[in-house]
Amino acid sequence: MRKNVVAGNWKMNTTLQEGVKLAEDVNEALKNVDAKCDVVICVPFTHLASVNAVIDPAKLGLGAENCADHVKGAYTGEISAPMVASTGATYVILGHSERRQYYGETSETLKEKVNLALANNLTPIFCIGEVLEQRENGSYLEVVKSQIEEALFELSAEDFSKLILAYEPVWAIGTGKTATDDQAQEMHAFIRGVIADKYGKEVADNTSILYGGSCKPSNAKALFAKPDVDGGLIGGAALEAESFMGIVTAF
Ligand code: PEP
Repeated sequence: MRKNVVAGNWKMNTTLQEGVKLAEDVNEALKNVDAKCDVVICVPFTHLASVNAVIDPAKLGLGAENCADHVKGAYTGEISAPMVASTGATYVILGHSERRQYYGETSETLKEKVNLALANNLTPIFCIGEVLEQRENGSYLEVVKSQIEEALFELSAEDFSKLILAYEPVWAIGTGKTATDDQAQEMHAFIRGVIADKYGKEVADNTSILYGGSCKPSNAKALFAKPDVDGGLIGGAALEAESFMGIVTAF
């Protein structure tokens, strides 16, 4: 059966010292709760090795926020999937809307990134989601379907089963505007159907689909209560241990 997952996305926040302290605080807080979900923090590349040294991997997973679409070589400034894996990280966020929007990531490059992540035993947390205009003109289901088909549907069923998906309506990210639990459920059930049509019901039922977009302790419970919402990808509220734990304990 699929896992519930709460993953933090720190984005470009915290210095190394602040990040290590935040990771220590989350790690400490997890000792005192019986978390009903897998808990992951995805942190800046510069923090990965140091954070890995202070967390208990049995309780807290570690991930990067991106990786390169090449394995090595003359790509100044890029960080490869093997480099990420060598820090001890086991997850990587791919296709976040900020990467698509500001850094021109396309389904073609994301396909490569997914392949390289999987080849290096990293679990991709693959993000999909529509912009406000697409929500308002009613094309949002088709948009998300295309994002999944274009980047992921060349994977074998075995490889697809290793992914975590994160539905993040772009209009809800960092805006304080959350999708309603019914809007999230509609999309998550639709995504599960798209997966079932391609890979069968068993694969679809075993895929964790997280919701992301202004998720916080006050709305997490209602979102996570929906049958097809298997947790959250958390931005702003992951930057303080207390609010992040408030979401972890919403399960
Ligand atoms: C995100 O960027 O993945 C995200 C969900 O951000 P926020 O929670 O701040 O909306």
